[in-house]
Amino acid sequence: MRIAIYTGASEGNDARWVQATRGLGAALAAEGHAIVYGGGARGLMGVLADAALEAGGEVYGVIPQSLVDAEIAHPGLTELEVVSGMGPRKARMAELADAMVALPGGAGTLEEFFEVWTAQMLGLHRKPVALYSPDGFWRRLEELLDEMRSQGFLADAARRSLISVDGPEDLLARLRDWEPPKPRWA
Ligand code: AMP
Repeated sequence: MRIAIYTGASEGNDARWVQATRGLGAALAAEGHAIVYGGGARGLMGVLADAALEAGGEVYGVIPQSLVDAEIAHPGLTELEVVSGMGPRKARMAELADAMVALPGGAGTLEEFFEVWTAQMLGLHRKPVALYSPDGFWRRLEELLDEMRSQGFLADAARRSLISVDGPEDLLARLRDWEPPKPRWA
C-alpha cells in the first residue's frame, strides 16, 4: 500500500510523539509500504520520512512551492513533487495514496484529516481514513465525535468508518479489513 500520513510540522514537546512517529515510519517501511506525506524536513513530518527512508522504504513528498523554504523540503526523498498550493497538495496526496492516516500534529494535520474524512462520507473516494493515536493523543477529538453522533450531527456509519488505532500492526490490519460506508446522501 501507499499510505498518506498527516502529522505535525513541529516535533511537539514530548518525546513520545517523536518515538511513535519514528516507530510507525520504520514499521511501514519494513512491511513494504510506501509513505506519501507533505514533503517537509521539519518536525514529526521529517522524523517520519527519515525513519522510513532509513528502514529502506519509499517516501513520496508533495509540497507547495510557497513552503519549500519555510518547511524545508526534504532533500532525500524517493520523489518530491512541488505543487502550486495547499489545495493541489491535499488533492495529490489523496490521489497517490490507498489510505490516509493522521498522526499527532496541529491545526494543519487536523485540516488535512477532516478534508479526506468528510470526502469519504460524501462518497468522493473509497479509501480508509484513520486516526493514529499513540498514548491516546486523539482521544478528546474522538469524544467530541461521539458527542456529535449522539447529538445527531454525525451518522453512525460515518463514525464507524473512521479507523482508530494506536500501533502499526493494528493500523495495517484495520486498513486491510476496511469496507467503505454508504455515501451520506445515497
Ligand atoms: P501542523 O499540524 O499545523 O504542524 O501542519 C502539518 C502540515 O499541514 C504542514 O505541512 C502544513 O503546511 C500543512 N497544512 C496546513 N494547512 C494546510 C492546508 N489547508 N492544506 C494542506 N496542508 C496544510
